Amino acid sequence: MQTALEQYDPQIYELIRQEEARQSGSIRLIPSENYVSRAVMMASSSCLTNKYAEGYPGKRYYEGQQVTDLIEKLAQDRAKELFKADHANVQPYSGSVANLAAYAALIEPGDTIMGMSLSHGGHLTHGWKVSLTSKFYNSVPYEVNTETGLLDYDAIRDLAKKHRPKIIISGATAYPRIIDFEIFGQIAKEVGAYLVSDIAHIAGLVVAGIHKSPVPYADVVSTTTHKTLRGPRGGLLLCKAEHAAKVDKAVFPGLQGGPHMHTLTAIAVAMAEANTPEFVAYATQVAKNAKAMATKLLEYGFKLVTGGTDNHLILIDLRNKQIPGKKLAKALDRARIVSNYNTVPGDPAPPFNPSGLRIGTPAITTRGMKEAEAEQIATFIRRVAEDIDNDSLIEQISKEVLLLCSQFPVPEHFIIPSRNGVRP
Ligand SMILES: *Cc1c(COP(=O)(O)O)cnc(C)c1O
Repeated sequence: MQTALEQYDPQIYELIRQEEARQSGSIRLIPSENYVSRAVMMASSSCLTNKYAEGYPGKRYYEGQQVTDLIEKLAQDRAKELFKADHANVQPYSGSVANLAAYAALIEPGDTIMGMSLSHGGHLTHGWKVSLTSKFYNSVPYEVNTETGLLDYDAIRDLAKKHRPKIIISGATAYPRIIDFEIFGQIAKEVGAYLVSDIAHIAGLVVAGIHKSPVPYADVVSTTTHKTLRGPRGGLLLCKAEHAAKVDKAVFPGLQGGPHMHTLTAIAVAMAEANTPEFVAYATQVAKNAKAMATKLLEYGFKLVTGGTDNHLILIDLRNKQIPGKKLAKALDRARIVSNYNTVPGDPAPPFNPSGLRIGTPAITTRGMKEAEAEQIATFIRRVAEDIDNDSLIEQISKEVLLLCSQFPVPEHFIIPSRNGVRP
């Protein structure tokens, strides 16, 4: 197969090879990224990409579903078992579509939703002003306490009582602490709202028991499949039996046409992988690595939002270092350390040049790195930050990073062999 690509389209082949070299020759700290297994990669590049399967198993709109029905049923059953949910819909194309489907299943356009403000760690699709979710619904965002960086459940309850939302969304994209889904469930009950919990970032930690599951408390749970869960890019909805028909209708025919069957196939594989002691050990190490990295960064005088982390991610507030987040992210990238600049709660700087840097440990942990390497990476970050305009230092660090990468090869993850590349 790789030979076919190499022969037919050498230009794209070469670019894929370059991206493969980049992924293996850099320390990837973007907390929403990971490396999938070779099995997931193979399933997602399989012939299932050729099949249309509008509808659901047993109720399709095209013939030839002898195999697709079995695959989708397996993916659903594995998701239900993994998350202990009544019902699973494995068709959403991404986390964003899954969220919109969750809202569409439960409420009407124009109704009020209450999600976490993007600038305080929420996701665009939780009703942020540039997202269509804020046009379709009346959005009232809640924020964290800007002093502590923590969710203030009393303030969220007060806001909910004032605005009486139809949906409260719990979940975040840049929040380094445990989210109390049980309290969110109580608040939702008190104001007569549905609770939608979005665990896109932490799904892998949830299945491993590192983070408490929202499944007992939420009406609908939404997630991506490609972040800590380490599957292909996709979305997943879990819900109580009473919402199953509405959720399915919202995904298809409400928002989508045919599901991406190759992705569903790979989701089924990823769910099997996640249901193993090895995966629990992986997710446990992700959190340990984040803690080790955070402790070292604090020792180096970095300010961390909430003062640390309980999950897979760390949000550095760079204001005391007088370095803009974007400048540090770009310097780190030249040193082969890939992160993203991010707003911090109460950020006085504009969103395109914010005061924070967001990092996380899912990808380095898949490579087998442990606390010692997490600390070493914190030291790389300090060295870059302390002498950020020193190009020869950054060049030197990039060599040290490459050496570290070579000691922790990406485990059997890629189909395309490197020709003369960095890949160990
Ligand atoms: C990443 C993320 C999403 C969106 O996922 P996409 O697959 O990029 O559409 C939704 N919610 C949260 C909390 C996320 O972190």
